[in-house]
Formats: sequence, structure tokens, C-alpha cells
Amino acid sequence: MLTDPITALKGVGEKFAEDLALMSIYTIDDLLHYFPYRYDVYEIKPLAELIHDDKVTIEGRVVHEPSLTFYGRKKSRLTFTIEVEGVAVKAVMFNRAFAKKQIHSDHIITLTGKWDAHRLQITVSNYKLGAAENQDNVQPSYSIKGNVTNIKLKKTIQQAYNIYADEITEFIPETYTKSYKIPNRNIAIKTMHFPPDRIALKHARRRFVYEEFLLFQLKMQLLRKINRESTEGNAQQFDEKRVSEFVQSFPFELTDAQKKSLKEILADMKSPNRMNRLLQGDVGSGKTAVAAISLFATITAGKQGALMVPTEILAEQHYESLKALFGERANIALLTGSVKGKKRRELLSGLQKHEIHILIGTHALIQDDVYFNDLGYVIVDEQHRFGVEQRRTLRDKGLKPDVLFMTATPIPRTLAITAFGDMDVSVIDEMPKGRKEIETYWAKDNMFERILHMIEKHVEQGEQAYVICPLIEESDKLDIQDAVDLYHQLVEFFPQEVKVGLMHGRLKANEKDEVMKEFASNHLQVLVSTTVVEVGVNVPNATIMVIYDAERFGLSQLHQLRGRVGRGDKQSYCILIADPKGEVGKERMRIMTETTNGFELSEEDLKLRGPGDFFGKKQSGVPEFKVADMIHDYRALETARKDASEIIENNLLENDAAFLPLKRILETDPSLSTTLD
Ligand code: ADP
Ligand code: MG
Repeated sequence: MLTDPITALKGVGEKFAEDLALMSIYTIDDLLHYFPYRYDVYEIKPLAELIHDDKVTIEGRVVHEPSLTFYGRKKSRLTFTIEVEGVAVKAVMFNRAFAKKQIHSDHIITLTGKWDAHRLQITVSNYKLGAAENQDNVQPSYSIKGNVTNIKLKKTIQQAYNIYADEITEFIPETYTKSYKIPNRNIAIKTMHFPPDRIALKHARRRFVYEEFLLFQLKMQLLRKINRESTEGNAQQFDEKRVSEFVQSFPFELTDAQKKSLKEILADMKSPNRMNRLLQGDVGSGKTAVAAISLFATITAGKQGALMVPTEILAEQHYESLKALFGERANIALLTGSVKGKKRRELLSGLQKHEIHILIGTHALIQDDVYFNDLGYVIVDEQHRFGVEQRRTLRDKGLKPDVLFMTATPIPRTLAITAFGDMDVSVIDEMPKGRKEIETYWAKDNMFERILHMIEKHVEQGEQAYVICPLIEESDKLDIQDAVDLYHQLVEFFPQEVKVGLMHGRLKANEKDEVMKEFASNHLQVLVSTTVVEVGVNVPNATIMVIYDAERFGLSQLHQLRGRVGRGDKQSYCILIADPKGEVGKERMRIMTETTNGFELSEEDLKLRGPGDFFGKKQSGVPEFKVADMIHDYRALETARKDASEIIENNLLENDAAFLPLKRILETDPSLSTTLD
């Protein structure tokens, strides 16, 4: 059986099994699915086109019997001559004495190895008796550990395949394999390990890409379905008239993108299913307005709402702006770590009595003694900054609250449908009218003084500036030293009236908040900071963002930093101080100066950095695929998503016998059962 331990194979003893375990190979099935991580393709080319020192493949006739010399116990050299295009080429093979018995005069042989163009000699790493069947030769390489070698692994896989091939069964329904012309499982596995040529390999790979994406999408969509259906009965009967009156009271008209997102959110709230939605929108795109309206809808439905944000200063800002928007319409309270004693007790009591309609706060919201009377709706801002646990705890405070996650990190569509495939996604992809686009410049370090003069000029006109410090990796200490140095430099440079503040990662949370408040109230005009400037902080009066060592940030990060300015009606500027060495770095700077569209940037960033790095941390929940690549195989991802929706919507797993094998596979998937709650 495929579930047999690998020790069932001949030649796989305890030692070898231990090494294979390092590669997470325990069963025959694991072994057969341990695919090469790389394939080298060697094409047979005319001798004249071979490049010195390259790995090449040639084909020829053996001219005379090989000669073998030993020099050491297991060290040997086998040499022979082959005739290629009428030219004599010398072949050298090390430590493969046994080959002498296989290679004889007049044999046609295909050799792969390192080419010495001066001596017309090949140092053979691989040989195959007979002519190359195709004019290309594909050599797989496995990622190996311990004492495992590629050759030994290949042999073991070959043995396993020979014995167990019959047990490899197809589980993708024929309708799909047929219409996409993908090889069945059995053939595809064989081809991944022993590719006859490039074309066959391409199709085998295509099959596994589709398979991985399809299983993943099915999983995500099943989760989504379970999540929705488990919450029958939370339809929020809000007062549409009052909600639209509230929207009318705004000093601006909603953008089309805001209207569309709002409609999607309100539809979720009205439905008996629990909302599990991600609202994406660039900084300043107006997410808060949408959040406010949906919070108001909850109130008119007689329920309470909560808004959780990652920092105190953000909580305070949201509190102030929501209070201004709501006026007398709702009783809003702020709960942070600094609300203590009697004030806190009163607040909690008001919350329980439903005197408070909306509670805004940091993770203080999820402490055990915080009880809502009837929590119907929860918004989590900058969701990637909260752990899954924290998000869940808040959700569990209400009976079956609708949940909206908001993020200002524009997530490329490719990532969004994978990482957040279990959520619905709304996107605000349009900026309010009349926004002045931030002008972005790329400067060299020697222009720093000119930049300081520019800051001074703008400060004289009442504006403010951020200066982001040089970035030093992995070293908190140096990081601070640099910030401190720069801070003193600026204090020195500017006249007395220009107050400079300093912010870095070693400050305590309340100290950071204090500095931010000073800056927000314009008691400080220039803020020197490491990259800790909080996401989402709104200081509309700040118009200049200077970023040192800009080449060392990802595009998304630069965009986030740039988003700290351009929040008011004045023209804003972003200056990137960078001296990138490579082309990629230069490209980044160019892209930054050319676009302020967060989605465009995030797509570029994804291409330059790869999905693993995109969210910075491992906890991002971006799945790792064995064969598939989210960027390269983007189209297959879309196809798989569509097919998965069709399967789930039409309940084919239950209703159609052809889908039974697929259902069985999903049932055995451990990740589906552990993520169900
Ligand atoms: P986000 O939360 O997405 O960063 P905000 O909701 O804070 O953005 O909005 C940024 C600014 O734009 C706020 O001052 C807000 O009042 C304003 N704003 C929001 N929507 C509109 C709109 N449709 N038209 C004009 N201004 C808007
Ligand atoms: Mg906001």
C-alpha cells in the first residue's frame, strides 16, 4: 500500500530511513511525491556551439574500449574516446569503475558533463547508453539531506514506482483532466521523476499545479461555507432610511468604490450568514467612512459595535473622528490600556447595560472582564497586525457578530485569493476626488542638505515633516545610534523654532504614543524616526516624507511610509534617499517615482520579492505549494478557483459520484479539520 513505510522497499534500512525522515519522507506515498526541486535541461547542440566550462550534452559513437585506472581504494578514472560529428572527443568519468562493463566499442552513447573546449574533452556526470531519444535531456535534482544522494534517491523512487504504480489513482474528475488535457496522476508522477523530455515535464508539472490549487481552493471555499452556515440567525435588521440620512450628513459624497464596498458589507449584515470580509483600500481611500456607516447600521439594528486597532494613538484618532461623524447619533467609548480604575469600571458597566453603542480600543477590548450586552458587529483594523487568536477572541465576545477586517496594505489579487480565500474581499480601489498626488523624488545622499533646506521652508509655512532613519539590519543598538545621531544633526541644523522629535523601537509604547501626540498636535515639526511610524496615523499637516536607505525597503513598505503624507489638501512630497547597486533596486526607485497606486506597487513588489516575503512574517498564512508558484501560475490559480466555486456551489462533492475520490482526499486532509473552528 502507498501508506507502507519506506522501509518496505529493498535497500532502505534504518539509517537511510532516518535520513529520508529528515526530508519528511516516511511512506511510499511521501517518497513518490517528493518531487525534484530543479530540472536542468541539456540540449544536444553542434560541437561548435558548446561553451567552455558549461554543462553540456553530446551524443556519439564509442571509438575504443574504455581504459580504467585506479588511484586509491575507491578512486578511479575511466577514459574513452567518442566520435562526434567526425571529431574525436575524450570522455573522462571519475569513480564509476562499473561503467567499464557497460560501455563498449561502437556503442552509441549520450553523455552529459562539463565541457572543456580547449582539449575537446567532457568530464562526465551522467551517461546513457543509446542515442538521446529526444534532442533534449532533462536532469532532475532533488533537495537532499543527510547521506542521501541524488542517485540513490532516484533508484529508490524508481523501485517504489515499479512496485506501487498501480495503486496511484486519479481523483480529479475527468471533466477537468480532459478539458485541460492534463496527464493522469500515475503518468504525471512518473514524469516528474523521470522526465523523457521538456514537453512531457511541462504537462506533468501543469497537472500538479492545478491539483494543488484546486485542493487549496476547495479547502478555502469549504471553510468559508462552513463559517457562513454555522451562524444562521444573525441577520441584522437595520434601518435603511436612518443609514442613508447618516450618509447624507457627510461633508462629501462617497466614491463609487466606497459605495460598492458599503453595499457588499451591508448585504452581508442583512443576511443570516456571518460576515467574514476583508476590506482593502490604500491609505486615505476612505475606509474609515465605510466603517462608520456600517457601525451605524448595526446601531439602528439595536446591536453594539466594536472597532479594534493595534495602537493607542490609532484608537484615539478613530475615536475622535467617529465622534465627529456620529455627533449625537451614538454613544461611543474608548477603551485602552490607560483607561483604569473607576473610569474603566463605569465604562464596562455602561457596555453591559447597552448604554454604550460603539466601543473603540486596542487589544484592551479582548480582556476577560469586557462584556458586551449585544455585540453584533466587529471591525478589526490593520488586521495583519493582530494574531489569529486575538481576532478570534474578539469575535467570540458576541453571539454571532459579523466581522470586517480592514487593511491598508494593498494585497495583490493573486495573494488575496490565496491567503484570504476563506474570506470575502471588498476593495476600495479609487481615491476621493481632488486629492493632490504626492510627488516622489529619488535623491542621492549628497543632496541631504538641500533636502533639509526644503523641509525648513515648508515648516516656515506651517507644515511638518518625517525623516525616516538609515536602516541597519538585525541590530537594534546601531539602529538607535543612527536615529540619535541624525536627530542631533537636525537639531543642530534647524533654527530654534523648529522642534525636532525622535522616535525609535526602544521607546516604551506610552513613550511612542507621547511623541506621536506631540507631532500630531504640531508641537514637534520634524519627526526623526526608525521605521516604527505607526500605520494609519493621521497627521494631515505633515507634507514631507524623507526616507533614508530607501533601496533597502520593499515597495509595499515604502508605499506605507509615503502614505503618512498627502493626507491633507496641501501638496505633499516624498524623497527617497537611495543609492541602489543592482538593477532591481533601481527599478524599485523608478516605480516609486512613477506611481502612487498601491495595487500596482504591490503587484510589482510581489514579483520582485516573492510571496513568502510579502507580509514580512511567516505567520501570514500564505500557503506553501510544492510545485505551484503563485505568481507564475497565476492563471491556473484563477482556473482552479472558478472550478472550486462551481464544485462547492453545485454541491458536486455530495451529489456527483465522479467527485467521490476528490471528496475522499479532502476528508483526509488534516488542515481542513484543524482550521474548521
Ligand atoms: P483610510 O482609513 O482608508 O486611510 P480615511 O477614511 O481616514 O482613509 O479617509 C481619509 C480622508 O479622506 C479623511 O479625512 C476623510 O474624511 C476623507 N474622505 C473619505 N472619503 C471621502 C470622499 N468620498 N470624498 C472626499 N473625502 C473623503
Ligand atoms: Mg484609517
